[in-house]
Parts: sequence; C-alpha cells; structure tokens
Amino acid sequence: MSKKILLSGVKPTGAPHIGNYFGAMKQFVDLQKDYEGYVFIADYHALNFIQNKDEMEKNIVGVLLDYLAIGLDPKKLTIFKQSDISEHTELAWIFDTLTTMPYLMHAHAFKDAEAKNKEICVGTFNYPMLMAADILLYGPDIVPIGADQKQHVEIARDTAEKFNRIFGETFKLPEPMIMKDMAVVPGIDGKKMSKSYNNHIPLFAEYEEIKRCVMNIVTDSGEGIPKNVYAIHNLFRPASELLPIYESKAGKYKELKEMLIEDIEKFIAPMREKRKEFAKDIPKALKILKEGGEKAKIIASKKMEVVREKVGVKVYEK
Ligand code: AMP
Repeated sequence: MSKKILLSGVKPTGAPHIGNYFGAMKQFVDLQKDYEGYVFIADYHALNFIQNKDEMEKNIVGVLLDYLAIGLDPKKLTIFKQSDISEHTELAWIFDTLTTMPYLMHAHAFKDAEAKNKEICVGTFNYPMLMAADILLYGPDIVPIGADQKQHVEIARDTAEKFNRIFGETFKLPEPMIMKDMAVVPGIDGKKMSKSYNNHIPLFAEYEEIKRCVMNIVTDSGEGIPKNVYAIHNLFRPASELLPIYESKAGKYKELKEMLIEDIEKFIAPMREKRKEFAKDIPKALKILKEGGEKAKIIASKKMEVVREKVGVKVYEK
C-alpha cells in the first residue's frame, strides 16, 4: 500500500523560533518515516517580507540547515525550494483567476495588514493562492502547521473544491494537522510567539541568548505560578512533572526561570551542534536541496499537465 502524503513549508524570513519548531517542524520529523513527505522552503512567500538578495540567500541556506539539524532525512522525505518549481506560481495564477477579491479580503494576513494601515502589496493579498498551489500540486493528505496557518489550508480546500466544480475532479482536499497542545506556542509576553512581536526564543539560540530570553519572560508579581514561564516550560516537560515543582516553588520566579534555562539548553544544544556540523559543508547541503527540487518537479509538472488540459490550454502534446 502506498504511503499517505505529508506536505509543509517554512518561510525563510529569519531564524526559526521554538514556536515554529513545536507548532510545525517537529511534526515533519516525527512523521517522516510513516509518510511520503514534501517539506519546502517557501522563498517566494518570503519575498513579500525580504527584498534584499544577500539576506534572502542567507535565509534560504539557513532554513535548509535548520531542516537538516532538526533531523529531517533527505532519504525519507523530499526537501526542496519553492522557487525551483515554477509550477507553484503557474498554478497560483490559475487560482487567481477563479478567486474573487472579497473572498481573499477575509484572509487574516490581509485583514491584519489592513488593520495596521500597512501598504499591502499584491503578493501579500494573493499569498493564500500561492499557498493553495504549494499544497494542491502534491496532493497531500495532511499539512502539519501551527494554528495561525489553519485558515490558509481552509482556503486551499475551498480553492480545490471550486476548481473541481468548474473543471472536474482534479485536486484532493487537504486536511490541516494542528497539534492540540502546540497550536499556538506563547512567546515571552504570553502572546503568540512570533518574530514580528519580538517575543520569541530562537530555536538554535546559544546559552547566553536563551538566558536573556528566559529572564525577560513577563511575570506578574501577583501570581503564585508564573503562567508565562510555566507555559514555555511545559513545551519541554510534561505537566505531571512540572506542576508539583511549580507548586512547591510558588513565587520563586528566579529559581524557576533558572531551571527553564537549563531545560531549554539541554534540549537545544545537540541540535545547535548538529547545525554547526552541517554548516561546515554548504555545497553538500545545497546538493540535497537541488536534488529534492528535481524530485518535486516531476510530481508538480505531471499535475500541471493535467491542470492545463482541464482548463483547456493544452492544445497539443509537448
Ligand atoms: P512561518 O514560516 O513563519 O509561516 O511558520 C512556519 C510554521 O510555524 C507554520 O506552520 C506556522 O503555523 C508555525 N508557527 C509559527 N508561529 C507559531 C506559534 N507561535 N505557535 C505554533 N506554531 C507556530
């Protein structure tokens, strides 16, 4: 029996944080042996945020090293870069022609940008269409993501349904896979952990950086159990172990934070060291990415052939 398909991606917009890891990336590793996996670097999505050649290049290599360091195995799944597969943008265009502006105006990313009075580029507005194409080209059964991306997978489902309705059955409807306990990993201020809120703990932080982040976790002097410290600590230890410790040390914030620093360091240090090893041979890492792209291209181009035929633009064999 053929394996079920998993697909997900990360934007190369800077170093990942532990929210990205527990919310999404860890699932890629945990599931890689049971699924046919496609994990990509969403560089064309990142172009909405990063418009600087050197930074983009550095970030792409960065996500590749992150993927390898957390334990993604190119023998088990396909690691590739979105921009290597031109079918993503081609299919996004076709979806653009089927989707109305009012529908996309409901997307969170657009509404957030609008609420902040930001000047919104067309790429940000169309983001969900490119993401629908990223997903639907590979026919995944599951898309492991954090809760913030749930709406985008729903939009991909709606888009697949609309295309199927107009042109006939073509796309499988994907399911988001959101880990209940990790749906929204909180940052050091208790809000969703996010680079843009600057409330994050980098996944590959050095000891001193971990210490600085943890010491900055916001605590309220009225609390017995400092809830923001506990919420982050709970990512690294189960409640059954943690609660008795926090109860016995109620009010002793400094001690609890010191313990959290040690737990994070113990968890991060081996991955951090692995990343440094992979970084010693960038050409070898890039070869993995290039070969992954060649594999993904085969799947994506076959699917696009079907799509072109369905919409009526394939009038001869290539
Ligand atoms: P990004 O590439 O920044 O969109 O994020 C990569 C993945 O991390 C996506 O699946 C996000 O849903 C997930 N993610 C980002 N922030 C968090 C968070 N604070 N908690 C849980 N998952 C998150």
